[in-house]
Amino acid sequence: MNYLYNFHSHTNYCDGANKPEEMLLAAIELGLLSYGFSSHAPVPFPNHWCVEKDKLSKYILEIGELKKKYKDRIEVYCGLETDFIHKFSGASLFRNTEGLDYLFGSIHYLYENPWDYLFCVDGPFKEFQKGLKRVFKNDPIAITKRFFELSRKMITTDPPDVVGHIDKIKLNLGKIVPDLEQQDWYLEELDKIVDCLVECKPIVEVNTRGMYKGYISEPYPSVYLLKKLHENKIRISLNSDSHNPDEILKMYQEAIVMLNEIGITESWAMIRGKWMSVKL
Ligand SMILES: [Zn+2]
Ligand SMILES: [Zn+2]
Repeated sequence: MNYLYNFHSHTNYCDGANKPEEMLLAAIELGLLSYGFSSHAPVPFPNHWCVEKDKLSKYILEIGELKKKYKDRIEVYCGLETDFIHKFSGASLFRNTEGLDYLFGSIHYLYENPWDYLFCVDGPFKEFQKGLKRVFKNDPIAITKRFFELSRKMITTDPPDVVGHIDKIKLNLGKIVPDLEQQDWYLEELDKIVDCLVECKPIVEVNTRGMYKGYISEPYPSVYLLKKLHENKIRISLNSDSHNPDEILKMYQEAIVMLNEIGITESWAMIRGKWMSVKL
């Protein structure tokens, strides 16, 4: 990789362990040339892992200060990882917020009606099991269809700049259906999301977090999906979803080997304020 960067990163403004400046100093030490903060955006209900609504402007201000302070050493960007909750929350809520450079859009919550009951798709396994039972009557096909239906809805109706961990459902559902990626009904949903990406053309994140946490052997998205993205010339952006300084570039090398084997040789990074191609 000839241009080191990371745009998916968390701090103690949300569920990360460190202050923004600590993360930035670690990034400089590692030789990164661009670094983006993407704290979990506020959601419209109490929650312990997003930036609190009344702290959002302080977050943007603090990252803005870091941009100035370190401008000779690294390009600093202020972003958010927004949650898509149909009719409740999404990237568009933050699109016109001054001081933000980019928006990730992710699905963390699943529900039939969000005002009724919602649960985290990538939270503790017990919470996932409870939600699967309560909302989807323990049907793995129903939960898969809902997850990817919401993903398509996000991409078509409230598109972020970068789609985060697009197949994160596999993290917990893979424990219930171990050969998940061999199931026709699962692959059908992956194919449908590819059609949607081809139509709308957002950047799709390649996220190494599941790999370095030891949960899965492939990034989000899986090799199956990555091959389809490559065939369809969908832009990808390799990121780590770091929650502490040790994770900033974790598993980049391993992911790059996988991407190169598929034929993917470029990733998209923000350079001088624009998403640009970087050689992998
Ligand atoms: Zn996320
Ligand atoms: Zn994240």
